[in-house]
Amino acid sequence: MKTRVINVGSVKIGGGNPVSVQSMLNVPLTDIERALAQIKSLEEAGCEIIRATVPDKACAEALKIIIPEMKTPMVADIHFDYRMAIASAENGAAKIRINPGNIGGDDKIKEVCACLKANGIPARIGINGGSVEKDILAKYGKVTAEGLVESAARSVEKFEQFGLYDVAVSIKASDVVMTVEANRNFSAKYDNPLHIGITEAGEGTQGIIWGSVGIGTMLMEGIGDTIRVSLTGGTVEEVIAGREILKACGLRKEGIHIVSCPTCGRTTTDTLSIIRKIREKTSKIKKPLTVAVMGCVVNGPGESSNADIGVACSGGKGVIFKGGKIYKTVPDSLVADILLEEIFEMVKEGNV
Ligand code: SF4
Repeated sequence: MKTRVINVGSVKIGGGNPVSVQSMLNVPLTDIERALAQIKSLEEAGCEIIRATVPDKACAEALKIIIPEMKTPMVADIHFDYRMAIASAENGAAKIRINPGNIGGDDKIKEVCACLKANGIPARIGINGGSVEKDILAKYGKVTAEGLVESAARSVEKFEQFGLYDVAVSIKASDVVMTVEANRNFSAKYDNPLHIGITEAGEGTQGIIWGSVGIGTMLMEGIGDTIRVSLTGGTVEEVIAGREILKACGLRKEGIHIVSCPTCGRTTTDTLSIIRKIREKTSKIKKPLTVAVMGCVVNGPGESSNADIGVACSGGKGVIFKGGKIYKTVPDSLVADILLEEIFEMVKEGNV
């Protein structure tokens, strides 16, 4: 779906620009040292937009120290106190995420819109299942996709009435099916860029799966301009998951992609250790490169010759394929190191 473009600092969202990956700090901005350390880790992991909550004046003040140290744009997350939106905009935030449902009356929203417009800063209207307006809830009897869309539409129209058109929208619920349906319906009617994700998706494997199914479904339908995988506890993991989702959907190519079999009774090599070593040592590579690590000769030669480089392990040896042809055979114990040597050589030579 073609959406309008908004500029979040140096990152363009919408209008067919690359789908960006976001995450959110889970330490307070006032803990400057820890906040900066987390920002650095997120940026190194490939996070492109970072959000932080600004609940009070001290946090708004901390933005003045933190933002100049950042390579990525900072989004201020505002609830309840519209003055924090204004202070954040004045202190360098590149976007303000606001939930109009909990910010107070129209006069406050009007003031925030005027400030953002004057500073050339976009807003994100964040609609969550847990904060739909009471009258909409009463109309549908519970949180529904229709109610979420109605709530988002009401806010978008209000912001436009107050002169702010640079507005992204997020409509999230912890229910994947409802979130997808709501975003589908919204994007059919409105051209605001969409920030997509599944809110309160949980932690670890559960959170990654729920986020991936929801975000992946929407992206495959052409819905979504920026994503956040919400995971309890893991900010860097959110970014890694987000980037993998984009790759799986064919929207990103950069970095090493490892093709590996699940292993079975035929496997005689510890392929998992090989894969983990390659992943760890190549995490900073940006060039796209497919590496196959296969546990036997059933599918090993095929997958390895389709990859840029790959190995089919069998009987204590690994047959390494490069550029579709057998390259050399090495003992299991050397497979990881030789693959790494070759990968770095290929990246250096620009062969990939
Ligand atoms: S490639 Fe070989 S080891 Fe791997 S799952 Fe298939 S049959 Fe098993």
